[in-house]
Amino acid sequence: MFQTLIARLLPMFPESFIWKFSKKYIAGKDLQDLKVAALKEKAKGAFTTVDLLGEEIHSMNQAHDFYNQYLELITVLSKNDLEVNVSIKPSMFGLKMDKAACYELYENIIEAVSNYPTGFVRIDMEDSSYTSMEIELYEHLLKRYPRNVGLVIQAYLYRSHKDVMDLMDKYPNLSLNFRLCKGIYIERKEVAYQDRQEVRESYLRILKSILSYGGFVGIATHDSWLVDHTLDWIRANNILKSQYEFQCLCGVKEGLKVDLLAQGEKERVYIPFGIHWFAYSTRRLKENPKMVNDIIKAFFSFS
Ligand SMILES: Cc1cc2nc3c(=O)[nH]c(=O)nc-3n(C[C@H](O)[C@H](O)[C@H](O)COP(=O)(O)OP(=O)(O)OC[C@H]3O[C@@H](n4cnc5c(N)ncnc54)[C@H](O)[C@@H]3O)c2cc1C
Repeated sequence: MFQTLIARLLPMFPESFIWKFSKKYIAGKDLQDLKVAALKEKAKGAFTTVDLLGEEIHSMNQAHDFYNQYLELITVLSKNDLEVNVSIKPSMFGLKMDKAACYELYENIIEAVSNYPTGFVRIDMEDSSYTSMEIELYEHLLKRYPRNVGLVIQAYLYRSHKDVMDLMDKYPNLSLNFRLCKGIYIERKEVAYQDRQEVRESYLRILKSILSYGGFVGIATHDSWLVDHTLDWIRANNILKSQYEFQCLCGVKEGLKVDLLAQGEKERVYIPFGIHWFAYSTRRLKENPKMVNDIIKAFFSFS
């Protein structure tokens, strides 16, 4: 209740206040900030994926604007010897507004990243009203660019295990690349597990299925229980290092990242940046008021 209230009130606070705690989780507002943050992660031995912040668009002109900014981002990453790995939300490219145009924008971006040795585009997963459309988008792109595109799977959705199995059965000769996360959006009990332990069990079930089938998983969680269980299973089953990596959000549980790197695990940091940081921060809080605790903690720990 308190968390929800704080999350609702936050948009009324001055931007400078919101920025005080948001900056830990966001590289900054422009490409220069992004470059500095990504190079810092690289120096620590981590890989990165970059997300240009943006909200739901109202016209395809906005989608084209985001598209052009992604092209600039790709140039900056390559010029600075950073891996060309980006994450894109289909709503920013107008998936619900103009499907054909959205597909074309994704294709053009993937063409651009495929000029680089490990160039990669991750389709971020949004709320459950998007799930089927985003899987369809992935299948479309996968057929043309099997090495350069991956999808996010949300463990809290009941449908996710079947979605993954269906994709692996349909494309047995392609190495499918998933990022597996719990899911950030508030979903109804009709579509998603609500219980923390049930989400964890679903997570492990999906993870084991993908790895047993020879697919790739970006293990995107900060939940130490899940990380420990995942590592135990991976080691007991001699899963190849080339089949997985850990992924985390910029500024979250730095200690866990350091531990995993020290154990010789590969870690990729998700770095959001851009002028839409304010809407992003407050929207994420409204979607998941539980984050307020972490943010309040973060606020007091570095103010
Ligand atoms: C690389 C990456 C990409 C993601 N992409 C997507 C996506 O495309 N679609 C989607 O729906 N979700 C995405 N998520 C979010 C994900 O679904 C979860 O909501 C989020 O990671 C929290 O779940 P958790 O597994 O870390 O476990 P939790 O149990 O939620 O968190 C474990 C602990 O980590 C810390 N923590 C977790 N999140 C935060 C935070 N934001 N701020 C501060 N501390 C935090 C807290 O200490 C918490 O106790 C992504 C997450 C990561 C790491």
